[in-house]
Amino acid sequence: MAVTGRRRAAFIDKDGTLIDDVPYNVDPARVTLLPGVAEGLRSLQRAGYVPVIVSNQPGVALGHFEYSALRAIEVCIDALAGAAGVTIAAYAWCPHHPAGVRPGYAVACECRKPAPGLLTDAAAQHGLDLRNSWMIGDILDDIEAGHRAGCRAVLVDRGGETQWQRGPGRTPEAVVSRFDHAAAFIAAAARRRRDRVAGDAVRAAAALHGTAAPLGERLEGEPVPQHAARRRAP
Ligand SMILES: [Mg+2]
Ligand SMILES: [Zn+2]
Repeated sequence: MAVTGRRRAAFIDKDGTLIDDVPYNVDPARVTLLPGVAEGLRSLQRAGYVPVIVSNQPGVALGHFEYSALRAIEVCIDALAGAAGVTIAAYAWCPHHPAGVRPGYAVACECRKPAPGLLTDAAAQHGLDLRNSWMIGDILDDIEAGHRAGCRAVLVDRGGETQWQRGPGRTPEAVVSRFDHAAAFIAAAARRRRDRVAGDAVRAAAALHGTAAPLGERLEGEPVPQHAARRRAP
């Protein structure tokens, strides 16, 4: 069941999308942001999207590292994002794998992508509006997880996807080659949606007053922020 809140999120896969994919790595020294990520995170934040990292970490279940080792990765990504002026709102890890060796973690769970659990749990916990949120990932499992959570999704195709197994929910809204291009696509989609809402408001007002709405002109420009009037109120 999708829980909705007021804040919009950019759910972001970690390995191969945000940082270099180094299998089972928990060494902060080997964590590097991919090209376009700093700029992309900044523009997502500017467009009002709260960045939330959602990542499968089967290395815990498979015995490659402890769950607590992921804390060092969080600190490291916080520092790299912080240097770009961006605050990561939350990290959601799936430590499970059905073929794992660690008791408690060797399970078929609801959070391993393509399941939507990481996103829906984070939304419930942090009051995120899934319908107006996006998933950004480098494989089709990310896309499916985003869609199953009720979000839209962009694939950053950097060669991580090799199977291209199609199916329900596995067709992204856009395919791009860099993270900042995904951010630009999402910001543009948000602008289009705001324009549409502003256009609807103009049409509704016109219907109310029995006048024709100058739709063409009104849809072109930036809409008046919905909260502008509220901000001026005492
Ligand atoms: Mg990935
Ligand atoms: Zn899980």
